[in-house]
Amino acid sequence: MTRRRWIADEWNETTAALTGAQAEHLARVLRARVGMEFDIVAGGIVHRGVVEAIENDAVRFQLFESLASAASLPLTCALSIFKFDRYEWAIEKLTELGIATVVPVIARRTEKHLAKAAEARVERWRRIAREAAQQSRRTDVPVIADPVSLEKLELPTEAAWGILLSEIEDETSLWAALEGNTERRAALQGVQMAIGPEGGWTEAEMQWFAERKWQPVSLGPRILRAETAAIATASVLAAWLQAAVSC
Ligand code: SAH
Repeated sequence: MTRRRWIADEWNETTAALTGAQAEHLARVLRARVGMEFDIVAGGIVHRGVVEAIENDAVRFQLFESLASAASLPLTCALSIFKFDRYEWAIEKLTELGIATVVPVIARRTEKHLAKAAEARVERWRRIAREAAQQSRRTDVPVIADPVSLEKLELPTEAAWGILLSEIEDETSLWAALEGNTERRAALQGVQMAIGPEGGWTEAEMQWFAERKWQPVSLGPRILRAETAAIATASVLAAWLQAAVSC
């Protein structure tokens, strides 16, 4: 049977602990007892962990052998802020797919009230990412950055390819762009993808991206919702990046 996985809040070489809400959940809701076994991720490495003590605000484990595990993909999503219920769903699914970083972007057409409320939401997004990381048996939690405007985005370089998802791009499909970059794949340290808000990117924003070497690509003639575009792109990129590792 697969053991439930937890990402430790504190650890050293032989012991680890969950604290705060995680400890509370494990002790009170899941009724953990001394001697129970779990997978415990400590510093990016998964161990077999045995509950050693249950305290008021911490559950402590003894760590045993380390287990094989998968690292996140070198994939960053600049995800324009859109309606929060869908946004949370996107964060959860991107985490399951192995994304390393999500940068919430306040785009020109991000609704004003959402842009204002975003800062206060980040902690919740980080919790969602953490839970999804554990549930999908990741060894790390994706970074959910503080919301930024476009100007603050990291720019593409030789080693970090930038892909702009655009529903008005009619020349280059994501697939064609990937095929065109196969030779470069092994040298890439990462791929960044940028997804627009519900109203799409403005012309000025498209211009901004173009001037900074982001490559516009299309997912086909249908207009997808932003979260669908994000998940579809991440799935294809994950397969493409993984093919490089295994060949
Ligand atoms: N402006 C559009 C909808 C934008 S969809 C309209 O209302 O008509 C939101 C975002 O999803 C876009 O900015 C883009 O990043 C992505 N997207 C949606 N469909 C896409 C497609 N067919 N190809 C590439 N990106 C797409």
